[in-house]
Amino acid sequence: MRILVVEDSQVVSRVMRHLLTQELNCEVDVAPDMHSAKALLAENQYFVAITDLNLPDAQEGEIVKFVLAKQIPCIVLTGSWDAEQRARLLQLGIVDYVFKENRFSYEYTAKLVKRLCRNQSVKVLVADDSVVSRKFIRSLLEQHLFQVIEADDGVSALETLSENPDIKLLITDYNMPRLDGFGLIIKVREQLSREELAIIGLSSDSDESLSARFIKNGANDFLQKPFVHEEFHCRVLTTLDALDMVTRLWEQANLDYLTNVFNRRYFFNMYEEKLNTIAQKKGSLALALLDIDYFKKVNDTYGHDVGDEVLIEFSSRLQQSFSQHFTVARIGGEEFVVGFKGLNVEKAYVLLDSFRMQLEATPIATSKGLLNITVSTGVTEFTLDENVDALLNRADIGLYEAKANGRNLVCIAQD
Ligand code: GH3
Ligand code: MG
Ligand code: MG
Repeated sequence: MRILVVEDSQVVSRVMRHLLTQELNCEVDVAPDMHSAKALLAENQYFVAITDLNLPDAQEGEIVKFVLAKQIPCIVLTGSWDAEQRARLLQLGIVDYVFKENRFSYEYTAKLVKRLCRNQSVKVLVADDSVVSRKFIRSLLEQHLFQVIEADDGVSALETLSENPDIKLLITDYNMPRLDGFGLIIKVREQLSREELAIIGLSSDSDESLSARFIKNGANDFLQKPFVHEEFHCRVLTTLDALDMVTRLWEQANLDYLTNVFNRRYFFNMYEEKLNTIAQKKGSLALALLDIDYFKKVNDTYGHDVGDEVLIEFSSRLQQSFSQHFTVARIGGEEFVVGFKGLNVEKAYVLLDSFRMQLEATPIATSKGLLNITVSTGVTEFTLDENVDALLNRADIGLYEAKANGRNLVCIAQD
């Protein structure tokens, strides 16, 4: 990813370069004037341009129009606070107008670029019966690089949501035919929590109780129409930041800090529930317990850090082999489980044995060189009316047998 900073002050461009590369994995080009900016823009694809308005060879903000004409998102970072000019530039479609006040202005700009980057993968649904209003909101969202979908009333919004489960944010008007904003939110919240789908309510109604009612019905936030660009963007960004925060908290609670696979807590919580539904539906499930062989020796010989490298690579191979269809979790030091929902023990055995052979045949690259690692595995099948502990204990019997029979083996433990 490449970012262009058009700025004649070396101090400012240095600060921006530093902050941008700290926030993002990106290349930063700096142009000190319009002429060199044009040359760089002719040669490179830029994700975003951050431009000053007053350049030695173009003092009236000409650079902004030039950047926008190339369909590149433009953030204006300027020392001159001119309310009229600011409104005019926002109208032109710049992402934001940032006043160079203090160091927070630069941090704000770098964060904004990071959000633009994130926004590209965020789908937003706009539900509004007014075409004009919908198009306006779409244009605001697209300035910030969101993927936008439109719906013209509550019913079609519901349909769109069920067809696109990856929508992260719903912006809905209050007054709509067939199903209004409240009705829509109530229906949506039967399925999706505030953390799964954020909702911002909109209305031009002068009824002041509307904002509270929107939020009580399950909206994350509310905006009174008409609103200005910045107010809209602030609400959207704050709402999505809150969502990201919840996601991060969830990950901290449920993912293993070292290997990023699910942790013990997630596994036990999820599987207690999963086993119930499998039992109800009379489905099948195989559970495997994997333990790296002689792992203590890796630590003792090469150090704990190399041991960690092995764990990380081992987890990543487990994920590559199984995560697409099955659940992988680290439940202890060098012990992992894989839950094979829908498979019987014979089928799971075939997959596990092929994983075992692949691991044996492909040494793990570490900072101390290539290491040959093997794994022992116990696998068993779920029978109705048992809990996670019982299932895991039986898999452990299989694992014990694999260790006792020389390791680098998969053993089936029968009920
Ligand atoms: P076996 O083949 O019988 O499984 O032998 P082993 O050495 O693999 O088993 P043992 O249970 O004796 O040793 C496991 C070791 O794993 C001991 C512990 O220090 C190490 N370990 C546990 N968690 C971590 C970790 O997060 N990082 C590292 N580097 N080592 C860990
Ligand atoms: Mg071990
Ligand atoms: Mg062990």
